[in-house]
Amino acid sequence: MKNLRDFTHEDLLAVISELGERPYRAEQIFRWVFQRRATSIDQMTDISKAFRERLKEEYAITGNTVLEVKRSVDGTRKFLSELADSSRIESVLIAEGDRLTLCVSSQAGCAMGCKFCMTGMSGFTRNLTLAELSGQVISAFELLEGTEHITNIVLMGMGEPLANYDNVLKFIGVLTSNMGFNFSHNKVTLSTAGLVPAIKRFGQEGNANLAVSLNATTDEVRDKIMPVNRKYPIEELMAELRRYPLKSRKYITIEYVLIAGLNDTDDDARRLSRLLRSIPCKVNLIPFNSFPGSSFASPSPERVERFHYIIKQAGYTVIVRLSKGAEIQAACGQLRGAYEG
Ligand code: SF4
Repeated sequence: MKNLRDFTHEDLLAVISELGERPYRAEQIFRWVFQRRATSIDQMTDISKAFRERLKEEYAITGNTVLEVKRSVDGTRKFLSELADSSRIESVLIAEGDRLTLCVSSQAGCAMGCKFCMTGMSGFTRNLTLAELSGQVISAFELLEGTEHITNIVLMGMGEPLANYDNVLKFIGVLTSNMGFNFSHNKVTLSTAGLVPAIKRFGQEGNANLAVSLNATTDEVRDKIMPVNRKYPIEELMAELRRYPLKSRKYITIEYVLIAGLNDTDDDARRLSRLLRSIPCKVNLIPFNSFPGSSFASPSPERVERFHYIIKQAGYTVIVRLSKGAEIQAACGQLRGAYEG
């Protein structure tokens, strides 16, 4: 059986034409699957019973199975989903003020091997399909309470989204389609560890905010904590960001995990300010949060404040992102509580 959650509107147009039906059927099905979050073809009551029966011969709607939901006192919820092949992925709903951000995983595991990241240390399984990506959004909708609604989506969970390029691009299409989840493009952010050729491609083809996880100001340190730097060193990455086509009033988010004694000195802050010159950006500083098996330590609040001060003095918009839901180990991997909207 093929899963209808794996089909974009364009894909459905092809399916429909093959089945000899009129094109508007594709829009009906697409809306049922993503906007109305149907869980079975039988729910599509504006489609004739005969056609539904035909569809059911080859197609079904299958979701991720939510195994566990952990809720922290600040309203942040982390949920663990199981996929058809028993792979498990995490997603997090991060509550902050009037924002509720869903952090989505793009891969089961991650091949990037960042040393400050729990996911990176446990290896890569596979890319997620469009159905598994959008399934996280649908599961999150089911966890909402009262008048809550998701305001932002970040691809910042397990995995390197640009290493799952095609499915992630389709997913962003479904997220932002007014027949799909209908999020505004500027409420969706993709975060990358710095795959330079894919950043270039995303700049041409993608339509969402870009965040880059930088985390060091010298190749020596970045090589150590982010193996991707050996392939795409800092200068190459910065050159690509300088060229990156930004729509009006948009900026790139630079994420910087502060790790005690490794990348949090005054010199680092000054180098970071120089590196970012001529890149329209906002800086997110994320004090490292230790996890079992990690050899890194969190910086002191004074160090974070001083680093923040230097970047701010250099004229950048900079914020310190504190961990949300720390007690439930929220956020898969990368950047606990680091998101942008
Ligand atoms: S930080 Fe992101 S890119 Fe790096 S290993 Fe973790 S999940 Fe992968």
